[in-house]
Amino acid sequence: MRKPIIAGNWKMYKTFDEAVDFVEAIQEAIPSEEKVDTVICAPALYLPTLVVAAEDTDLAIGAQNMHFEDEGAFTGEISPAMLSTIHVDYVILGHSERRELFNETDEAVNKKVRAALNHGIVPIICCGETLEEREAGSTEAKVSGQIRAALEGFTAEEVAHMVLAYEPIWAIGTGKTATADDANAVCGAIRAVVADLYDSETSETVRIQYGGSVKPENIVELLGKEHIDGALVGGASLQPDSYLKLLEAAANA
Ligand code: 13P
Repeated sequence: MRKPIIAGNWKMYKTFDEAVDFVEAIQEAIPSEEKVDTVICAPALYLPTLVVAAEDTDLAIGAQNMHFEDEGAFTGEISPAMLSTIHVDYVILGHSERRELFNETDEAVNKKVRAALNHGIVPIICCGETLEEREAGSTEAKVSGQIRAALEGFTAEEVAHMVLAYEPIWAIGTGKTATADDANAVCGAIRAVVADLYDSETSETVRIQYGGSVKPENIVELLGKEHIDGALVGGASLQPDSYLKLLEAAANA
């Protein structure tokens, strides 16, 4: 059985004090990492402080993006080497907001995944379709194309330790969740892509999250599905209460 992984994606929210208070508020109640992997992906500016605040807890800290080069003349960017020197454990790559608003390409995502692994950072690789693509019946083609491109050049062993995240773009921040069956079907299709590229052992090991309006009210049903191993959560990860409810559901899944 795959261990659930709940990752909060704070996006561009919270003041510094709010971020520190959040970690303090949840730390006593985080379930054991034997039961669930708990991650907060915070704004880059807060990462060093949060890594220290989370040091003796079962909370892991992640970034929301990074460049693929270790260093260079890239004004405003943050490198994987920088993230690893402050002991960041995870990085979200290829989020649809980065793809749509900041022109991140499949090729860049693939390079970033390689860079993350080079530095011992676990990538959370996002994929997902627009509403038009869903209505046109091209969800699986879109998602499998993104996953194939992201995984190009990696070994089975490398892929087994990655986290994949299916986030239908029309469900992000809209309050519209894919039905648990629809989300499971696409996560199953992603698993089939991994089996096709590698083998069944790798596809049964890799963890696949669902993201898009995940809340305490729908997490239990989502996690009950065969191919959904966790959640990538925006809005409901911003308040300690709702985030802890998600963790509790995952620990009991
Ligand atoms: P919401 O949970 O706010 O819909 O955001 C999902 C998301 O984009 C997580 O990466």
